[in-house]
This record gives sequence, structure tokens and C-alpha cells, in this order.
Amino acid sequence: MEYKTIDDNEIHEECGVFGVFNVKNASELTYYALHAMQHRGQEGCGIVTTDGTRLYGHRGVGMVKEIFHEQELRYCKGDFAIGHVRYSTAGGSGPNNVQPFMFNHSTGDFGLCHNGNIVNSKQIREKLEMNGSIFQSTSDTEILAHLIKKDVTKSRIEAIKEALNTLKGGFAFIVITKDKLYAMRDKNGLRPLSIGKMQDGYVISSETCAFDVIGAEFIRDVEPGEIVTFTKDGMSSTFYAKDRVNNICAMEYIYFSRPDSDICGVNVHASRKEAGRVLAQEAPVDADIVLGVPDSSLSAAVGYAEESGIPYEMGLIKNKYMGRTFIEPSQELRDKGVRMKLSPVRSIVKGKRIILIDDSIVRGTTSKKIVKMLRDMGALEVHMRIASPPMISPCFYGVDTNTYEELISAYNDVEKVREIIGCDSLAFLSHEGLKKATGISDMCMACFTGHYPTELFDSIKDANKESKF
Ligand code: AMP
Ligand code: SF4
Repeated sequence: MEYKTIDDNEIHEECGVFGVFNVKNASELTYYALHAMQHRGQEGCGIVTTDGTRLYGHRGVGMVKEIFHEQELRYCKGDFAIGHVRYSTAGGSGPNNVQPFMFNHSTGDFGLCHNGNIVNSKQIREKLEMNGSIFQSTSDTEILAHLIKKDVTKSRIEAIKEALNTLKGGFAFIVITKDKLYAMRDKNGLRPLSIGKMQDGYVISSETCAFDVIGAEFIRDVEPGEIVTFTKDGMSSTFYAKDRVNNICAMEYIYFSRPDSDICGVNVHASRKEAGRVLAQEAPVDADIVLGVPDSSLSAAVGYAEESGIPYEMGLIKNKYMGRTFIEPSQELRDKGVRMKLSPVRSIVKGKRIILIDDSIVRGTTSKKIVKMLRDMGALEVHMRIASPPMISPCFYGVDTNTYEELISAYNDVEKVREIIGCDSLAFLSHEGLKKATGISDMCMACFTGHYPTELFDSIKDANKESKF
């Protein structure tokens, strides 16, 4: 018998960060917020708090509800906290790489967590090591800590500014000290970070869905290139870069974020539904029912159904109780039809011409499996409609699609992808359609266009071959 991690052969979401400034039960609030953002990373999680005298931290490999119980939350005392859910997009997956990190330093202890990816981390790390820095982990996150402490003669905010100016890529950082919290976003605004108000204090989150869960009120996003400082005197802002643009990641809308989150002021469910509508206008097809691949494609499927007038049906059911690990069915059982995650509803699917909506195709393995399942259940035709453009380039900003080889559309045109997947027809949302759906024209769409908003340093070399497009 072989035990496998469910994520073994899959691509993954990125991480989520959260912070609390001056609110009672900070560790408990962080626990609920991290739980609300569990979809952003299931590999590890942690919380660091302070009561003003010292830092307390707990972290581990596993889901939030596995790592934290009453005892750990009670240990993490104080009204300030930061927390993190992790999927390892850079660095290894061992316990040393689980965040937040805590650092003891004669000038003041601090904790740090981060979401995203630094594209010049290799160069910076080498330089720092040559100057005597010793790293505890292989994660990108530690680099910021070393950069902040490089010159202790500088004020903390000046040191953070200088450190951030050295980093290239997409990132959101939260730093905790005994009396302050700092929240910052990369100057291209690739990764989201929002601020909420709660009682006499503030909360900071990768996604606004966490605010709703804990009863905080959204006030604004951290701007690209901005450092927001929270002290007993309130909230203050400074910018570390002049050349700032808002290139929020398009995949936040397409796949990563929860439908109830607002990213840069745009609701994720609404943008997905609109993408479905635009897709129906761009790629209509005659059929009996519209199905969505649960969960991230359901909003787009509703939009497609509404716009086309073809009924939306619940033809695919997802098992909600998949844990992090499970015993994978053997090939023999899989061949016999044992399905772990998704099951078609026979009475809905049988004898129907189906429009199947998915939010994206990465490797093509999910679509291929679903098309086969639907045909096995008696579907007459399966027309796939994808609520994003073909993914032709890797992401270097904290999303686990690092090489061209893992992207089916990097090497195959739409007709070839259709043939591999085995559906009757296939169409993707256009680039313009995606912009229309979100109402944002300057998002990062590099994985669909190959035009990256930053320099890439060595990342592009490590991404193997070039796309044929
Ligand atoms: P694939 O089988 O590789 O084509 O995966 C496509 C499915 O994975 C789609 O149904 C998406 O919902 C989902 N997906 C898209 N991007 C990612 C990502 N970066 N990490 C995890 N899943 C993803
Ligand atoms: Fe998001 Fe794609 Fe840009 Fe990566 S390349 S930040 S996944 S839009």
C-alpha cells in the first residue's frame, strides 16, 4: 500500500499572510483568518505574536486545524500577531521553511512572513553569504530579514525601504516587532494585501474574505510600493519606490482567491461570472446544459449559462472531505472507476450535450479526466470553455507553474490541446475578454502573454525551454 500526498502531482496555490495590530485575542483571530485562507496553502502554517515584552511563535507542517489547538493559541500571547499559510513556491518544503520566521537581534527581536517570490533571491543570497550571513532556511523570506539588519546604524523604516529596493519580484511582507507592525507590497502590486479595521486596532490580510470571517471592516489596500506602519499612534504610510504600477496578478481573479474576496476593489465571484458571460459571447455553442468544474469554475459557469440561456446544472460533485493526505486508489481501482475528488451525476449527464466550464487549463490532466468521466457516464458531446486565455508562460512571482514543460498550451495550439483532452470543441477566453471581466486593464497577465512586468534574472533560465508561441 502506498501513501501519497494529494498534492503530489498537482500544481498549487500560493501562500497567504495575515496580521493583527492591537486587538484582543490576536492569536485566535489569526487562527480563524488563516483557516479562511487555507485554500492559499496547505503545506504549513504558523503564528507569531507579542505582548510587548517578547515574541511568541508556533509553526508546523500541516493544515491550520492540525497545527493549532487551544494550548498553542494560549501560548501565543498578546494583542499583535502575524500568521502565514504556506505552499512552498520557493525553497524546500521542510519545517525550517514554515513561516513566520522569528529573529533575535540585539537591536530588537522581530518576526516576518511573506507571500510571493523574489526573482533575484539567488543573487542577493550569494552576496549576503559572501558578507558573512548564515541562513537558517532555503526560503526567500529570510533574505528580507538579513537585508533589514545589514546596516544597524539606519532607522528601522529606512532599513526596510533600502531592503525592499533591493528585491525584485512579486511579494507581500508583514513584519512584527514588540511594538509595531509593518505591511508592505512589491512596487508592481503583483500580490494582494488589504487593511481592515477592528475595534481599536487593525488587521492585514492577503484576502478580504478573512475580514468577513472575523468581523473586521475593509478600509483599503496596501498600495504597490507602499510600507504601512502600525504603532500606538495609529497607521502611517510611506513609499519605498518611485516607479510604482498596479499589476495585480490576473490568476487571483481566475483561480486563487475565494469568491467572497475583493481584490483591488473587484469582487472575485463577480469577475468570474462576468468572464463566463464574455466567454459565452466569444465562444457560443449549441448544447443542452452548462456544467462548472467545482469549486473555482462555478461562478464562470453561472455567467455562461445566464448569457447563453442554456440551463446551468450541478453535474459534477466534489468530495469536500478530501484531507491533505489520503491513500490513492491503485491504477487497477482507478481503471475500474474509483474516483476520489470529482464524480459526475449520471442522471444529469446521460444523453446530454454538455458545455463544461473550467477556470483554466494548466497541464491538461484535469480536463482530460473529466471529459472521459462525462463520456463514460453517457454524455453525448462535451464542449470545453475555459474562463481564461491559454497559459503559455511560467509564473515567477509565487505561483507554482515554474516551467514551460508543465504548460500544455506552451507547446500545443488550441486544436491540438482539444485533441489531447478529447473534447468535441474547446475555446478559451480572449485577453481582452479577461480585462473586460475584471475591469482592470493593467493586471499582470504574463502567464497568458509572456510579457513579464519585472526583470527575471535567472528564473527564466531555470524554466527550461522557450514556448513555441
Ligand atoms: P491541469 O489539470 O494541470 O490542467 O489543472 C487545471 C486545474 O487546476 C483547473 O481546474 C484549475 O482550477 C486548477 N488550477 C489552475 N491554476 C492552478 C494553480 N496554480 N495551482 C493549483 N491549481 C490550479
Ligand atoms: Fe499571476 Fe500569471 Fe502574473 Fe504569475 S504570471 S503573477 S500567475 S498573472
